[in-house]
Amino acid sequence: MLQALRDEEEQFNKTLENGLKQFRKLEAQLSSSDQKVIEGVDAFHLYDTFGFPIEVTKELAKEAGFTVDEQSFNEAFKKHQDLSRQGSEQKFLGGLADHSDESKKLHTATHLLHQALRTVLGSHVEQRGSNITKERLRFDFNHEKPMTAEEKKKVENIVNEQIKRDLPISFQEMTVDEAKQYGAIWLFEDKYGDKVKVYTMGDFSKEICGGPHVDHTGELKGFKILKEESSSKGIRRIKAVIGHASLTK
Ligand SMILES: [Zn+2]
Repeated sequence: MLQALRDEEEQFNKTLENGLKQFRKLEAQLSSSDQKVIEGVDAFHLYDTFGFPIEVTKELAKEAGFTVDEQSFNEAFKKHQDLSRQGSEQKFLGGLADHSDESKKLHTATHLLHQALRTVLGSHVEQRGSNITKERLRFDFNHEKPMTAEEKKKVENIVNEQIKRDLPISFQEMTVDEAKQYGAIWLFEDKYGDKVKVYTMGDFSKEICGGPHVDHTGELKGFKILKEESSSKGIRRIKAVIGHASLTK
């Protein structure tokens, strides 16, 4: 614990030192070009990278005979806030690139794939990652060995069967305990709020998820595994496509 505090303090001093170095550099640059105003982006860089509050930068500037363009600092600050808000919204998308129909379909397919993998390989299988682009889904899960060709075929067949059955997709809100009771797939490593959404796809799949999904599995049209490979120790990775593309590849 003490060591951790010491490390933190050391880290803090180091950052402060680097920040001051950065400020001196800036000072030299401004002096050599005969300028008296520190631009907002430069002040923001000191804030963002070295943790210098604008007041500190202003104080340092004053000592050195400079002023800070506060308005452009505030603009840079606001722009950064907007960007990080977008960043956290991205996380809420559950690994989705966007909310386009194609992304929704691909994400819906991961629920079917998840359940099919559990049916074929065993209930130890848990999603460990998901990434979706407009062209394909990528699904990571824990499993000790490569899947056999037969296992892959079985999983594909099960998913395609659910697509053909055109199962209705709906969700219910409940507590995490209720969701577990209900038999929904939940992820040990995930942190859930008080209320969660459980998405049900006919009688085939129940899973805690934030969405979004399509309304019927039939919209996926078809499913094909392109690749099954190792992602890291004990983790396998599947890349798959849906729709007409899956029928030609
Ligand atoms: Zn989902």
